[in-house]
Amino acid sequence: MVEIKSLKCFQCGKTYPPDSNLFRCPDCNSGLNAIYDYKAIQIAYLGNTIIRGEWTRIEPHHWKYYHFYPINDVTKIISMAEGGTPLIEFQKITQEIGCEHLYFKYEGANPTGSFKDRGSTVEITNAIEQNAKSVICASTGNMGASVAAYAAMAGINCIILIPNNIPSPKLAQIFAYGAKIIQINTNSYQKVQKLSEQAAAKFGYFLLGDYINRTEGEKSVGFEIIDQLGWKAPDYVFCPIGTGTLIWAIWKAFMEFHQIELIEKLPRIIGVQAEGCAPVINALKKNSPTIIPITNPQTIASAISCPDPISGSGALLAIKNSNGTGLAVTDNEIVQARNKLAKVGLFAEPSGAVSLAGLMKLHKKLDLQNKTIVCIVTGHGLKDAQTGYDIKKTEIEPDINELKIFL
Ligand SMILES: *Cc1c(COP(=O)(O)O)cnc(C)c1O
Repeated sequence: MVEIKSLKCFQCGKTYPPDSNLFRCPDCNSGLNAIYDYKAIQIAYLGNTIIRGEWTRIEPHHWKYYHFYPINDVTKIISMAEGGTPLIEFQKITQEIGCEHLYFKYEGANPTGSFKDRGSTVEITNAIEQNAKSVICASTGNMGASVAAYAAMAGINCIILIPNNIPSPKLAQIFAYGAKIIQINTNSYQKVQKLSEQAAAKFGYFLLGDYINRTEGEKSVGFEIIDQLGWKAPDYVFCPIGTGTLIWAIWKAFMEFHQIELIEKLPRIIGVQAEGCAPVINALKKNSPTIIPITNPQTIASAISCPDPISGSGALLAIKNSNGTGLAVTDNEIVQARNKLAKVGLFAEPSGAVSLAGLMKLHKKLDLQNKTIVCIVTGHGLKDAQTGYDIKKTEIEPDINELKIFL
């Protein structure tokens, strides 16, 4: 298995030993990035498992790339066949955008309906390796539902802390999996996250969330895209930014495949936030490495409403190092993108359509002829089906003559 060499702070660059059991940089409070010995991965695996020949015979799925996750014992894996989600093209939208190919990576197809399952399978497996009995996690809904499901499968206790703006289907899902829900009276996800960190430190709960194991697990979105495109990187990847964990993880996955020489070129990463909560895009516009927290986040895209994102610096790095860019979209643009996807058959929650909203806003400024684009559709429509809809339907008596009038 892969060994982490060190943990490196996104913000100040300070490094810590891999076994230091840190969730954030003690100096600047930013998130940490796991550094591996890629030469060792290349030498150990390129000659046998990670050769294209063998990998092309196995369907893409999350644990296919287990060499790249910090897990010691593969016999302990807690998995529900997460990942292996479809990469779908709709000719109508491809033509509208005017590119060669536009694919949607549909993360709604995961066991609990979002990409969070990729992080949860690694986090819960790690918790089991460390004999955890009770896990605690702060969530805007999807991570809570996902962690609750994997904790249920592993047979361990689960406590989910949530802010007060979670769509009710997500709440029902967390409850159904048997987790204890504690709602904190705030709409700031970061306040809830801080509480979860304090509770873990004080009362000995095993802390889960946007930390190293989740980041490492969510890399599989990137691995699968490369795999599904026949070991080629797309030209652009559009990704929503909440805490920034996903966008960083996808970029890290591309870099890892590049580093071990599985791909030649790297894609440009385009980060998209909601206008009412866009701390990363604000920093990008000012060309500043410092992310200033938003005081009053306001967006219907509740899954990306993260006013002080822990992996914000990682998100900025993903955009800058890939020669990409970022933009903010309005709630109205998000709803329009959500509706556009549904009209071709793909139902996403509002946050799940943010990547397409970004592409629709930006595409005229990019030269997209002959280009391949991937938009990450992060969550299933049923997660938050009511938002932004004025549902039209006709109600009649069970009478064929009346029905005839309306057909
Ligand atoms: C968690 C989530 C996001 C944001 O991902 P981050 O890793 O927090 O940036 C986007 N969309 C959906 C549906 C999510 O659940």
